[in-house]
Amino acid sequence: MQLTHRRLTLNYRHAFGISRGSATQTTSVLVELRAGDLVGLGEAIPFRFLGWPIELVEDALDGLARRLAPLDLQPPLSLAETLRAAEGEVRPALGAVSSALWDLWGQHLGQPVWRLLGLDAAAAGQTCMTIGLADHETMLAKADEAAEFPILKVKCGGPQDLATVRALAERTGKRMWVDANGGWEVEQAADLAGELAGLGVEMIEQPVVSGDGDAERLAAVRAVSPVPIVADESCAGPADVARLAGCVDGVNLKLDKIGGISAGLLATGAARCAGLGVMYGGFGSSSVSITATAQLAPLADWCDLDGALLTADDPYQGVELAGGQIALSAAPGLGLRLR
Ligand SMILES: [Mg+2]
Repeated sequence: MQLTHRRLTLNYRHAFGISRGSATQTTSVLVELRAGDLVGLGEAIPFRFLGWPIELVEDALDGLARRLAPLDLQPPLSLAETLRAAEGEVRPALGAVSSALWDLWGQHLGQPVWRLLGLDAAAAGQTCMTIGLADHETMLAKADEAAEFPILKVKCGGPQDLATVRALAERTGKRMWVDANGGWEVEQAADLAGELAGLGVEMIEQPVVSGDGDAERLAAVRAVSPVPIVADESCAGPADVARLAGCVDGVNLKLDKIGGISAGLLATGAARCAGLGVMYGGFGSSSVSITATAQLAPLADWCDLDGALLTADDPYQGVELAGGQIALSAAPGLGLRLR
């Protein structure tokens, strides 16, 4: 199998803000894996926050390309694990290759990946639409633009969080989740959790900062929160699933953090065994990354698959998200095509 990769830079429709900063573009690494006439696709999102700058991801992909070069097309689950053991833990790179392997294998068998995983596409629920952190008026305007989406995920961690969520609740009447990206102190989060629940917010993602002592911080918020607490940044890899058991209600298993579709399936099982709910999220990306993640959507409690909708120039068409409903394609593999 021949693996090639190239950088893909996409522009956000609006500057995308979270509690740690704001961005106007997102750059990923697109992977093409060839076996005979078939081409499988994957996308790696470098994530400096977790120690994976783009150069490191590209180096890891070069190593994976050398491992794959002498191999013929074969089933992805055990091969993905072999690659992880051989090439180490640059998980965005492993994730992109896992996606491309599943895409190839599905095309080879003429079946969509979700079906190869034993899942029922009809069980895929709805994605939220994220409202990036900005000034109060901009956030309200973004909510107006998101009219077709039934669930809003509101980025928090600014000075007006409560006022903004209250205004969004009154203006839209929609279901809402909140993501503070670690932007609150424990006491502040504990107070806000009760107030936000009173406004109808159903779930809070990463209220307090990740890193040393985060399990205790999350547990302290969870102990008083009327709504589920989900770890995102604190769940940086598969090993964090067991670490966070009992401290949160759920984990956000972004495939770039976990290591791809195969690893995502295993991490989902581990989370369920630990009594944790499962969220699948993504980063700003093309539809390649989002469509790979969406294959697991039938297993989710919460889905945040709007990463490609936030961009203005996604070159691919994959999973359909009209009206927020996750509609998986019955086309072989990931069912991706160029727009
Ligand atoms: Mg998050």
